Amino acid sequence: MTTTADAGFAPLIDPFARAITYLRVSVTDRCDFRCVYCMSENMTFLPKKDLLTLEELDRLCSSFVSLGVKKLRVTGGEPLVRRGIMTFFESMSRHLASGDLNELTLTTNGSQLSRHAQSLADCGVRRVNISIDTLDEKKFADITRWGRLKQVMQGIDAAQDAGLAIKLNAVALKGVNDDEVHDMVAFAGSRGMDITFIEVMPMGEDMGDGLRLDQYWPLSDVQAKLAERWTLTDSPHSSGGPARYVDVAETGRRIGFITPLTHNFCESCNRVRLTCTGQLFQCLGQETEFDLRKALRDNPGDDAPVRDAIRHAISHKPKGHDFDYSRQKVGGRMTRHMSHTGG
Ligand code: SAM
Ligand code: SF4
Repeated sequence: MTTTADAGFAPLIDPFARAITYLRVSVTDRCDFRCVYCMSENMTFLPKKDLLTLEELDRLCSSFVSLGVKKLRVTGGEPLVRRGIMTFFESMSRHLASGDLNELTLTTNGSQLSRHAQSLADCGVRRVNISIDTLDEKKFADITRWGRLKQVMQGIDAAQDAGLAIKLNAVALKGVNDDEVHDMVAFAGSRGMDITFIEVMPMGEDMGDGLRLDQYWPLSDVQAKLAERWTLTDSPHSSGGPARYVDVAETGRRIGFITPLTHNFCESCNRVRLTCTGQLFQCLGQETEFDLRKALRDNPGDDAPVRDAIRHAISHKPKGHDFDYSRQKVGGRMTRHMSHTGG
């Protein structure tokens, strides 16, 4: 296996002169929840043979690190339901130790954090994103279908006990959690956490346009509502992602807004996404994908062709995406599920 130190490989630069330093990797398409905007109730999951093994995930992520990726975010599906996933975190921690990787992190629904938070901290994870759209038990069960709020609250406790910094992610849903945004900001503030609101995106094929168009709530409106109660000032903070932030004077914490639909943040895009089957998506909103699994499986023990395949893929990264709700119809709608691509 190769590391950056021995290699000195040229960094990954895409056709628009953007350096690719951030890899989001989906380690499973499975989940113990069935959030209405993400999955249908009766999901058919991928056959196991299609999934990258933990060893293949290691080879691929390590190849990206050798090409200059500095931040690795593990996601899914629910990453912590993948069997053996802690061995993957343990093995990735060597790149933190060598200094090749600056950050190893994950996005999780929090359901398994009671079990895993301490081990994650031991592997060098310092921050986690936990998705939680409501503080109301009934609504939580309605949104996630299979999830229970209490379990996630226990996960938040465990993560804080293990010393992990937490950012909450909440999808803003009109008619669902619009009456709760103040409570959520207060809750996050009281626990020393930042919170990011996300606009619902047109993902997946079997939920009907109506659902998300009805629930679509522009974050400009969310921010206006928040400003009625909280003193918000624009923050220069950047997490290296597409969120923009405001400081909340009353809590001393930040609120982030991820607005893929109303604000085009593609110019500064530094990331690519790897699916659990080894397809590399250059852009959340484009269908173009490159198969890296073939390069892995055709070349056991030789990572040079894997690096070549990565470079080839990056040389085709498109300029940006085409999501558009502006005419009250979903333009550029994607047919794959977020759980497959990795949210
Ligand atoms: N299971 C983990 C979780 O829920 O955090 C990680 C994967 S999940 C796909 C990642 C993020 O994508 C979550 O914050 C979720 O709320 C968000 N998400 C899923 N479907 C979405 C959609 N259609 N629009 C906007 N955000 C979505
Ligand atoms: Fe699972 Fe996360 Fe999708 Fe909800 S958003 S169904 S928790 S993968």
